[in-house]
Amino acid sequence: MNCRCNEELEYFVKEAKKVTKKGKVASYIPALAEASGDDLSAAVYYGDGTCLYAGDVKKVFTLQSISKVLSLALVLMDHGPNKVFQYVGKEPTGDPFNSIIKLETDNPGKPLNPMINAGALVVTSMIKGTSSADKIEYLLNFVRTLANDQSISICQRVSESEFETSMINRSMCYYMKEYEIFRGEVEEVIDIYTKQCAIQMNSLDLAKIGSVFALNGKHPETGKQIIPTDIARICKTFMVTCGMYNASGEFAIKIGIPAKSGVSGGIMGLSPNQFGIGIFGPALNEKGNSIAGIRLLELLSANYNLSIF
Ligand code: GLN
Repeated sequence: MNCRCNEELEYFVKEAKKVTKKGKVASYIPALAEASGDDLSAAVYYGDGTCLYAGDVKKVFTLQSISKVLSLALVLMDHGPNKVFQYVGKEPTGDPFNSIIKLETDNPGKPLNPMINAGALVVTSMIKGTSSADKIEYLLNFVRTLANDQSISICQRVSESEFETSMINRSMCYYMKEYEIFRGEVEEVIDIYTKQCAIQMNSLDLAKIGSVFALNGKHPETGKQIIPTDIARICKTFMVTCGMYNASGEFAIKIGIPAKSGVSGGIMGLSPNQFGIGIFGPALNEKGNSIAGIRLLELLSANYNLSIF
C-alpha cells in the first residue's frame, strides 16, 4: 500500500476534532464504552492504489453497523436481489437503527431496509454455510478479500459483550419469525450477527473497502471484480438513503456522498469512481453517528465539492 500522511487532511482532522467534546462514546454495548472520545483518524484510498491519511490510522475498531453493507453485498451475490427483497424492503424508516415499531405498523414482520437492525438480522440469517462458525468464516473471508488483508479478525470481547446484551435484537428476530420473514435460529443468528459487528480493522482498511464500492465492485489493488456492478450499485444506493440511520436525509443535503456509519464511531464513505474514505471517531452525536466524523466529512465535502447531487 502506497500510503502517506497528508498535511491538508491533518488540518481538517484537527478542525473536526474540536467537536468531539460534544459527543459521547456508545455504552449500550459495554465493551465499546472503553474507547477514548477524543480520537479521530481518517484515510482516503484512491482508485490508483495510493492513499492519504491523518491521525492515528493504525487504531483498530469494530465495524458494527458498517458490516451491514458488507453482509448485504455477500447475500445479494449468493441469492440475487429478487429473493433477498422478498424478505427485506428498500425504504428508509426515519426511525433509530434499533427501532422495532415499524415491524408492527408497516407491512407486518418485514423490515423496511437492510441498514436497520431488523433488516440486517434477516440478511445475516441468509448467509450461506453449514454451521454458525462456517457462516461467520465465510463472511470474514469476504471482508478480507474486500480489504485485501488476511489479518482482519473478530474482536471476541466486543462480540461477547454484545451477545450478552442483545435483547432488543433477539426480540426483533422472534417478531419476524412469527411472520416467517426470519427463518433462522435466533441464537445462531445473534451469534453470527454480533461477530459480524465485531469484525475489526483500522481506517486504512475501511477506506480501501470503500474504494471497492467507489470503483463499482472492482478492487483497486488486485484489479479483480469482487462485487458485480449492479450489486455494488444497490449497496451504494442504500448507503445514500439509509446509511446514516435517521440522519440520512440531512447527511445527503449537507455532505451528499454514499456513507455508512457504526456505533463504534466508524464511517465508511466514498466518492464515486474516485476514492473510498475510512474514518474512526468514537464520540457519537444523538443519532449515533461519529460527531467529529460527520464534521470532517462536511469540511471535506465543502472543500472538494464531493456532493454527488
Ligand atoms: N451491533 C450494533 C447493534 O446491533 C450495531 C448498531 C450500529 O452500529 N448502529 O446494536
